[in-house]
Amino acid sequence: MGERLKDIHLSKSSVTDRVRTVNIQTAHCPNGCDLMCEDIKIHDLNSICVKIHYKDQEGLLHIDPEFGSYEHISEVAIPDGEVVRFSCPHCGVSLVDESETCRTCSAPVFTMILPNEGEVSGCLRKGCFDHTLKIESFEVLQLRIDEDFVKVIM
Ligand SMILES: [Zn+2]
Ligand SMILES: [Zn+2]
Repeated sequence: MGERLKDIHLSKSSVTDRVRTVNIQTAHCPNGCDLMCEDIKIHDLNSICVKIHYKDQEGLLHIDPEFGSYEHISEVAIPDGEVVRFSCPHCGVSLVDESETCRTCSAPVFTMILPNEGEVSGCLRKGCFDHTLKIESFEVLQLRIDEDFVKVIM
């Protein structure tokens, strides 16, 4: 039993080591507003702050910038399976990507710009877990070759 637990722990940490290279350090809305938040840190990293809209409620959502980790902080409680919208907390522009839908559940997706690196997009349905990081920068090209894309749970 002890042996088994140890194996699980090791495989988990190897995944974390691999994805740690793609922590998001900069993220912009389509209008160029900086979405990083220094006031709320997750794993000692600046969180990514977006405005979350659900029915008639809205609030701030601080997204965990570490891929493979899901410790997001939301001001609005969202039931699993519900679809939300994201907007820029600074200029109000919608972060919903009208040109794409989730490959898993067909819900709308959001996109954020990662300057000089690419973009990150993800499903807006709570609990869907289909999130894709599209990286364009050379430093992380290796990662793209290895996995094509990185799935992220939000
Ligand atoms: Zn903005
Ligand atoms: Zn989905």
